[in-house]
Amino acid sequence: MTKHPIIHQAPSPDRQPNVEDYPALCARFRWADAQAELDGLPGGKLNIAHEAVDRHVLHGAGDKTAIRWIAKDGTVRPISYAELKTQSDRFATLLHQLGVERGERVFSLLGRVPELYAAVLGTLKAGAVYSPLFPAFGPEPVKARMQIGACRVLLTTETFYKRKIVPIRQELPALRHVLIVGPISEALPDDVHSFDALMAQATDGPGIVATAPEDPALLHFTSGTTGKPKGAIHVHQAVLAHHISGKLALDLHPDDIVWCTADPGWVTGTSYGIIAPLTNQTTMIVDEAEFDAARWYQILQDQKVSVWYSAPTAIRMLMRAGAELASKYDLSALRFLASVGEPLNAEAVLWSQDVFGRAFHDNWWQTETGAIMLANYATGDIKPGSMGRPLPGITAGIVERLPDGGVREITAPDTPGELALRSGWPSMFRGYLDEAERYRKCFADGWYLTEDLASRDADGYYWFVGRADDMIKSAGHFIGPFEVESALVEHPAVAEAAAIGVPDDRAGEIVKAFVTLHRGYTASDDLEKEIMAHARKTLGPAVAPRIIAIAESLPKTRSGKIMRRLLKARELGLPEGDTSTLEAFA
Ligand code: AMP
Repeated sequence: MTKHPIIHQAPSPDRQPNVEDYPALCARFRWADAQAELDGLPGGKLNIAHEAVDRHVLHGAGDKTAIRWIAKDGTVRPISYAELKTQSDRFATLLHQLGVERGERVFSLLGRVPELYAAVLGTLKAGAVYSPLFPAFGPEPVKARMQIGACRVLLTTETFYKRKIVPIRQELPALRHVLIVGPISEALPDDVHSFDALMAQATDGPGIVATAPEDPALLHFTSGTTGKPKGAIHVHQAVLAHHISGKLALDLHPDDIVWCTADPGWVTGTSYGIIAPLTNQTTMIVDEAEFDAARWYQILQDQKVSVWYSAPTAIRMLMRAGAELASKYDLSALRFLASVGEPLNAEAVLWSQDVFGRAFHDNWWQTETGAIMLANYATGDIKPGSMGRPLPGITAGIVERLPDGGVREITAPDTPGELALRSGWPSMFRGYLDEAERYRKCFADGWYLTEDLASRDADGYYWFVGRADDMIKSAGHFIGPFEVESALVEHPAVAEAAAIGVPDDRAGEIVKAFVTLHRGYTASDDLEKEIMAHARKTLGPAVAPRIIAIAESLPKTRSGKIMRRLLKARELGLPEGDTSTLEAFA
């Protein structure tokens, strides 16, 4: 399947990996054993925040640093597990005092500030449901999500409140209280409170709410290709999968310094930027600032980050910044690198192997799956360009949808179809808020259908082909945009690529590719021809793009996914649909 060499990982001499023998572990794995690694609460109850924080304090690890928070100016503030427990207890009390009931929704619209972490965990302790908003959302996407989620309490800053909430406040009838984090410069309405002031008063509370495993805990919004954003509901039981996937797919050990670079406004930033590193009792890094290649390397070096979980867009930006920059830093503490969120080209895997001496381990999951489902592990082979193999406890498959609403499993290797997961794992979403029918349609014959197209090779590794709706059909053949894009980024001038299908009288559709260039390259007809020649050579004429356009930038979601759908709509002069997650794009 890959023309790139397989990376055979040698066992580390000084550390036992959590996945030593993948097939044996899959054979013996039971979710009940995962449960046994956690405490639970009396009477079969379970609360994510107890497992993430209180458990470690009760077992004597309160002094350990849970979070090393790095302010924009570089100041580092350590927060111990004990402090996180106290602060989250207080936040739970604060919610109780504000009259927030179990199951009601608490939203945050905040940057990566320390208060956020206490608030997320405190919300869970109060039995309320936490829902993050991405801080760069404007008023419209904020409104849509807060309305769907019937937000009761919002945590934000004074600036965001004035800019993004005041204009829509009348349209948010469920919103009772706004908590302002940070300074307040002028008098605000009665239901807008200072976070610090309320926290100072919230001393004696009822303690952690004994939530049932199936009680809702998190609400994560995801944009559909059509229609309004979908609110995926996750329950406290999900913590089993957060914990185990952190341990097995990210190889977390309690002595690790973990940096998940995803913003907590997204599901990755919650599952792996808060919950999994804490349940595994690691120390996690939170950087308040935005991406900057030199700053990132400085953090990796100074904080001695050992596990780094990032995303292809960031990795491509580091590639763009060049290997020379990386070589100026001592990154010897790094031991495990992983990536998620969009296809990780083999090119990027090999680059990191070259530059860091460690390959990025691609893994796959979705908002709906709540936790990593496919991964390349710390032991065994990495096949560059592959998303890896199912997590122990997860059954994945490739299926074809049938006209009668059922599915047929495709067992032949290397045959593209829809990636599906046997339903019932602990972090599976339990519904789309108020959209029972949309939820029901995600399942058939015991499978959850992911709407991603993929194939599985004879060794059980999964290969991403594209989103079901991004597939290009040219002259009767399906062409996966990812395949085309991977070939294009192998050209030395190409930084990023996006392939879409555009209508063609003869072939039905032909492939058009948009590419951005690495620094030092200038767009020209000659360069375009050169890239085209490279694509035809590597992909063959049936798959290679017929048209290549060099672009300044590509439209991306704020979580870094290239929006092929938008490129296509613009190309065809069609409505652009839901662009609420679009990053600023010229
Ligand atoms: P989200 O729900 O926003 O986390 O997006 C999930 C989608 O991101 C998946 O359905 C895939 O289309 C894409 N995705 C996530 N991880 C990968 C990966 N490792 N390779 C390719 N696509 C990915």
